[in-house]
Amino acid sequence: MTLKTKTALVTGSTSGIGLAIARALAAEGANIVLNGFGDADAIESARVGIEGTYGVEARYSAADMSKPEAVAAMVREANEAFGSVDVLVNNAGIQFVSPIEEFPADKWEQIIAINLSSAFHTMHAAIPGMKAKGWGRIINTASAHSLVASPFKSAYVAAKHGIAGLSKAAALELAPHRITVNCISPGYVWTPLVEAQIPDTMKARGLTKEQVIEDVMLKAQPTKEFVTVDQVAALAVFLCSDAASQITGANISMDGGWTAQ
Ligand code: NAD
Repeated sequence: MTLKTKTALVTGSTSGIGLAIARALAAEGANIVLNGFGDADAIESARVGIEGTYGVEARYSAADMSKPEAVAAMVREANEAFGSVDVLVNNAGIQFVSPIEEFPADKWEQIIAINLSSAFHTMHAAIPGMKAKGWGRIINTASAHSLVASPFKSAYVAAKHGIAGLSKAAALELAPHRITVNCISPGYVWTPLVEAQIPDTMKARGLTKEQVIEDVMLKAQPTKEFVTVDQVAALAVFLCSDAASQITGANISMDGGWTAQ
């Protein structure tokens, strides 16, 4: 129970990787702030499930990560409820697949806001509390697309390269304060986000569903297996441990060998 008495706020944690990270941090004893969209009953059942299974307090914020004021209010409310945000996981993200010349400008703005700028706004609001306590962990769910590109994902690739740079700058600023900042960069993880991009990729590349899975997604991953949400969550837990106190400014790949090529 390495995180007892600590509080973890995980953006985009009503689903997929974020929910797995929230559960894994709760298993280590952290109180949790869940965030994200989705069916109200399903979110409430996830929240209650975390409290019941792990004996921690879990709250939920419906804050929209594309709205800076809502992001600031979410962190303020977490500070008021729990006294601090000790572990901040910037994980909320969306995807859109289209050639640049057809890419809707509002989708570009939305992806940059949710996948990149929200991490600046959460950090802006949470860092003073971490500095006051002299301890903190900031973990950003980046992507293999923070290191390499794929066609038709311009906004996503730009945002993910951006969050890798933001993480490095923050790591240098916060190193004297026992606050580490790192990126986890998964390859393809089987989540609703990945499932949802299959139809658009089929359209953009003129492929069948099976071809998208085999020839686009798993083609990039030499292991030929999807990463699991629990594997990503286990790395997040490790980054919160004392053993990881000297890991900062790192961008850790978990991509079945994708970016080694
Ligand atoms: P997901 O769709 O299962 O989860 C995304 C989460 O973000 C959900 O909780 C959703 O409600 C939330 N969200 C979306 N827009 C939001 C907004 N405006 N405000 C607040 N919350 C919002 O997807 P996932 O695959 O679990 O993705 C999580 C993160 O992991 C993303 O940043 C994604 O880019 C990254 N990632 C995913 C993969 C993958 O293969 N699944 C690979 C690399 C990186």
